[in-house]
Amino acid sequence: MKYQTLIIICLSLTGVWQTSCNKDKRDNQDYEAVKVHSRWFDVNYLGDRIYCIEEPKSSQGNVSYLILGDDRAIIFDTGCGENEEVHGTKIKYIIDQITTLPVTLIQSHFHFDHNQNIHEFEQIGFPDLPALRDRVEENGLFQFRQEDLFYGNYPSEITVDEWFPMESDIDLGGRAIQLIHVPGHSDEAVAIVASSSKMILLGDFLYNGTLFLFHNDDLAVYQHTVDHLNSLLTPEFRLFGAHGDPEVEFGQLQKLDDFLNCIEEGTCQFTEQTVWGIPAHIYNYQDMHILLFQQDE
Ligand SMILES: [Zn+2]
Repeated sequence: MKYQTLIIICLSLTGVWQTSCNKDKRDNQDYEAVKVHSRWFDVNYLGDRIYCIEEPKSSQGNVSYLILGDDRAIIFDTGCGENEEVHGTKIKYIIDQITTLPVTLIQSHFHFDHNQNIHEFEQIGFPDLPALRDRVEENGLFQFRQEDLFYGNYPSEITVDEWFPMESDIDLGGRAIQLIHVPGHSDEAVAIVASSSKMILLGDFLYNGTLFLFHNDDLAVYQHTVDHLNSLLTPEFRLFGAHGDPEVEFGQLQKLDDFLNCIEEGTCQFTEQTVWGIPAHIYNYQDMHILLFQQDE
């Protein structure tokens, strides 16, 4: 029933979340398909030991990422779980076909559609953010809240095995990645930067599709994060999101900056819509869309 609901949500948002629901758009991209045994997941090699794991049949159009070092691997998100409920397949089974390295899970953020396969992973790393440290008990137990997940009540709790520092090298053996705090879509959101590969994995902060903001204050937070990303990234970087068509053109980051300015100045006006029973403001700017929920009162 849960997944039926998600599919209806996706269909009902056609026109709002167009790209995320349209799995057929695939042009100007330099991917190398990786053969895996799966009835659900598609795997593409992005280069430099980074893979994207797509779920083209899922209602959320999920994209998770696998990064390999010499000694360990990181999986960035686990998908929305429709694989298991509908098809009985496991994302770890896909990863096992790519690498025998020990794998640690990092969630781009805690929304339900990124962590429904969390039980498949034995090692879970958290970004070392004070707000998360404060919520983890001495034995490492972390309890998810409803507002963390946005929808549903799974997962309820997990054990944190490792804390990853922000904006400092995380050694995977023969390569390093960094985590960057990218609040805006959600407070705990992080991106993974692979500087030597000139790639950044942005989770739900920026992807090809309507961006979702949950509180009015998030507009200013988004702007602050865009400024930070612009100070760190150069146009050689390839950007990747967590829904829909994975690669995001670099120019979209500047366009998002312009979009947020347009909203701030009052030039971009919203239309009202009710989404998932919650009133929302919809903003449009060229080919970008922002949905801002009105749930603060
Ligand atoms: Zn999200």
